[in-house]
Amino acid sequence: MIYHQCFIESRIAAGKRPPPLIRNKKRCTCRQEVTPEEAKELIQDGEAVWIVIHRERKPFQITCTLCRGDKEVKNCAECRGKGVLERYYTIDSYGDDIVAISIALRTPRTPTVESEHIFRAYVDGYLPSQKRIEEYGRLNAEFTRSLIVGEEPPDDPKTGTGRKYDFGRPIT
Ligand SMILES: [Zn+2]
Ligand SMILES: [Zn+2]
Repeated sequence: MIYHQCFIESRIAAGKRPPPLIRNKKRCTCRQEVTPEEAKELIQDGEAVWIVIHRERKPFQITCTLCRGDKEVKNCAECRGKGVLERYYTIDSYGDDIVAISIALRTPRTPTVESEHIFRAYVDGYLPSQKRIEEYGRLNAEFTRSLIVGEEPPDDPKTGTGRKYDFGRPIT
């Protein structure tokens, strides 16, 4: 497998750029080969992450942060009385290569801008930094689930999304 060191793959992995629709092998000159064992070690050490080949943005609903879903409040300025707010989370599909990540990008990407501070505190509070990246996908799914009102995303073993992958870790 290739160990990318390039700007473009690290930006994509960090969620700063969308993955390309068609992956052109000539788009970078990275040719550094690593064994699967080395790749695993680099990921565990927080030096690298899997390259992202596809990214999906999915909507979900949270209880309104202003009225807390109180049905008595008819003219809530935030939700207009619906009691819920629409938010989005992303599901990344990973490729077979890895990419080095810069120190600045090692704090995991967050599902939504609004919940960034909550999520960051949650991750920082629970996990040593080198575990953050590999745990991120699972936590992301759990965190998202904790906010979902109604419909759940389908079970997906790669992203850890869905009922089957609920580990029941409390949000504090
Ligand atoms: Zn590259
Ligand atoms: Zn409201």
